[in-house]
Amino acid sequence: MKTIQDYDFKGKKALIRVDFNVPLNDQMEVTDETRINAAIPTIKKILNDGGSCILMSHLGRPKNGPEDKFSLRHIVPNLGKKLGVPIKFANDCIGQSAIEGSRSLKGGEVLLLENVRFYKEETAGDEDFAQKLANLGDIYVNDAFGTAHRAHASTTVAAKFFDEKCCGNVMQAELENAKKVLSNAEEPFTAIMGGAKISDKIMIIEQLLDKVDHLIIGGGMSYTFFKAMGGQIGNSLVEEDKLGLAKELISKAKEKGVDLQLPKDSIVADDFNNNANTQTADNYAIPEGFMGLDIGPESREVFAKIIENSKTILWNGPMGVFEMSNFAQGTNTIAKAVVKATENGGFSLIGGGDSASAVNNLGYGEKVSYVSTGGGALLEYMEGKTLPGVAALEE
Ligand code: AMP
Repeated sequence: MKTIQDYDFKGKKALIRVDFNVPLNDQMEVTDETRINAAIPTIKKILNDGGSCILMSHLGRPKNGPEDKFSLRHIVPNLGKKLGVPIKFANDCIGQSAIEGSRSLKGGEVLLLENVRFYKEETAGDEDFAQKLANLGDIYVNDAFGTAHRAHASTTVAAKFFDEKCCGNVMQAELENAKKVLSNAEEPFTAIMGGAKISDKIMIIEQLLDKVDHLIIGGGMSYTFFKAMGGQIGNSLVEEDKLGLAKELISKAKEKGVDLQLPKDSIVADDFNNNANTQTADNYAIPEGFMGLDIGPESREVFAKIIENSKTILWNGPMGVFEMSNFAQGTNTIAKAVVKATENGGFSLIGGGDSASAVNNLGYGEKVSYVSTGGGALLEYMEGKTLPGVAALEE
């Protein structure tokens, strides 16, 4: 696969799929600029070469065409400030304003197209729509790793209309870091899986059983394992239809010599509420009327020790309902342990979504090896699936 370093963009119009799917508040201000920041190096390299950039992205999930709250015009001020150049905005991603915008674009200039998901053809991967997008540029660049697992028009289909295509810096870094963990992991290798449901993570857990030394499972998904092993889990989260699967994963881990670590104890609450009454309970004996909302003190200690002694760490999913401060201690302890392991020379990859927010909120973003921008895409890549957005760049 080619990268942007393989091309000189002088005099070329780069059509770049970026990920500007950023959160906006009620005043339509960007509240987290991480994704905009991530896209800057790719855009700057092209502008510095003397090329121009046509940026396309989605924002949110518009259902019925254009809607102001999903308009990419809201990010124009942030983007302009970061790039230090005025941003031209086309109030449509295809059609006259996009065509005119592209035609008059000169080297060193940036054109931002309106939300591609204002057309249902985007998620349908419609060829005509993709070709209209493709007609706007000379070289196709995909820098949106977070949507690379979707075969949408702007992420995948548009690529086929270009002879010259490549990945941007974000995409390149994401793939390199994921490969480091998949094929070059220094041991001990510990994977930490958390979050609400096993069903979302079965495939990755099965893949990891062939690679890791320790597999730590925390968060809501761990209670299905305890119920499967005959525990009393009170009102904790459970996937009744996955009890058999949980047992199977336990035996597979044993067969493969993987140290499967489930939390011994939990912080349990009598309500799904930050002010609920809480106590610490053994995970085999959670009292009736209580639910496990975080890992307990003994689990925190055991998990932290394993993590601190690891040389490769992959973390996806929180250890509890970390959005509520009284149930965030487990997740925070894990984050601290990952930082310590990294300071000791280990390699740590934080897989998108909630674990990335937890690490960033604690100010640890720079203290771990890499924080992925793509939750679902990273998991699919690690499961060994071909990401359509990546495959399209390789053809
Ligand atoms: P996921 O999207 O599957 O990674 O799940 C993340 C969500 O799982 C977060 O919003 C957490 O609040 C939630 N979660 C983690 N632990 C628990 C738990 N013990 N009970 C209920 N929800 C949980």
